[in-house]
Amino acid sequence: MAVDEKFVSIVAKKILEEIEAKSKNTRSDKAIYENVDDAVEAAGRAQKRFALLDLEKREQIIKSIREACLNNARILAEMAVEETRMGRVEDKVVKNILAAQKTPGTEDLMTTAWTGDHGLTLVEMAPFGVIAAITPVTNPIASVINNSISMIAAGNAVVFNPHPKAKNCCNKTVEIIHSAITKAGGPDSLVCSISEPTIETAGRLFAHPGVHLISATGGPGVVKAALSSGKKAIGAGAGNPPVVVDETADFVKAAHDIVCGASFDNNLPCIVEKELIAVESIAEKLMGRFSREGAYILRGKDIDALTERIIGSGEIDKELIGKDAAAILREIGIDVGPDVRLAVMEVGPDHPLVYHEQLMPVLPVVKVPTVEDAIELAVRAEGGNKHTAVMHSKNVDNMTNFARRIQTTIFVKNAPSYAGIGMGGEGFATFTIAGPTGEGVTSARTFTRQRRCVLVDGFRIV
Ligand code: NAD
Repeated sequence: MAVDEKFVSIVAKKILEEIEAKSKNTRSDKAIYENVDDAVEAAGRAQKRFALLDLEKREQIIKSIREACLNNARILAEMAVEETRMGRVEDKVVKNILAAQKTPGTEDLMTTAWTGDHGLTLVEMAPFGVIAAITPVTNPIASVINNSISMIAAGNAVVFNPHPKAKNCCNKTVEIIHSAITKAGGPDSLVCSISEPTIETAGRLFAHPGVHLISATGGPGVVKAALSSGKKAIGAGAGNPPVVVDETADFVKAAHDIVCGASFDNNLPCIVEKELIAVESIAEKLMGRFSREGAYILRGKDIDALTERIIGSGEIDKELIGKDAAAILREIGIDVGPDVRLAVMEVGPDHPLVYHEQLMPVLPVVKVPTVEDAIELAVRAEGGNKHTAVMHSKNVDNMTNFARRIQTTIFVKNAPSYAGIGMGGEGFATFTIAGPTGEGVTSARTFTRQRRCVLVDGFRIV
């Protein structure tokens, strides 16, 4: 019997189409989910497949993420500034590059071993499973890059619930990371996100039985919500970092470092200098240097006007958060060029900006008679956040005293604050600093559970 070639070809095409349609239905093949349940389910499936890959493959996937994020560092920074209307593109590029290059990978995972009369015991760092990660509007892209690398280096999958006001740029970052993972042979939806993230979707993620760990980076509200979830939560909360300058400091370097730190990304990062407390005998010289470092010094009634504009209601005006110094000064009728990165104003020790996290390039300065007074005020201003503090001094006793008194997670000496997260200082980079829950500067090992494996009466080889 003659075969009808046309008929065979139609049937074959039909079968192929059906196979393709079926496989499309079963593959998640996406990074952004409308529904929390779908995202967690897909991340759970991805994590199980990911757990079967060896560490070398995990590193190849991380390398692919690093490359993709470096290639897109600028475009993502531009997207973030456009969407959030906060911060500086150049500084966000620096943060994105830092996160892509200096977030540790699998080398951060350490095994502990004991050997003795009874054999060998190992403790290994194992993944939790699926992590729900909440990220802030002030630092959208670098947080997603940093969290993704840390969490998957530890063998987890992650579902992000970014800040609603940064959802587009964060979800674009997640898509870029997702495609870098699949390109390197990793599973779909290992890193994914929610298309319309809200506080409600965050709550649903927290409560979802398929989520095994929560990582909350943001203000006190989200840390409290995460810690009330009934699950293990890593809380990276607000800071209000003081910088103290004592009479022994190199005031030229101190002025330079403080302007660099306090103006970085328009004061948005949680770790940057938020109030300066200077010992009187050095304060004038320090203030004198600030204008040479690109800062504008406010005086007299301008200080009152700016205070009223920023915090007249008792709360920081959110409209001004992350804006350029020039735009903020324009609000009270002062015109300066775009090269002015920081506004500085001398205030009393009870000024509200000393105690509020302003998140804008306006630095209050308090003069005090002695270093002891400076330390005491700095501890009060930091408010028990246990976050970050900075000191410029050449006196080891003063530095030790301040570090002991303030008890912050990060303590930076004689450098801009951001040296504490690996920018110009030794150590790796992180954008999730868990003060409230004590994990400190987070990395892959933070997102692991410890598992013990005991072999009795064997493998002691000495
Ligand atoms: P935010 O607290 O308003 O929001 C942070 C994230 O939490 C967002 O994704 C938001 O949608 C979510 N959120 C807020 N309340 C929630 C709730 N009740 N339940 C669930 N999710 C909730 O903070 P922000 O304005 O986006 O970011 C600025 C704050 O974050 C500052 O206080 C800053 O110091 C802090 N921060 C801390 C770190 C750190 O590592 N410790 C890093 C960056 C920013």
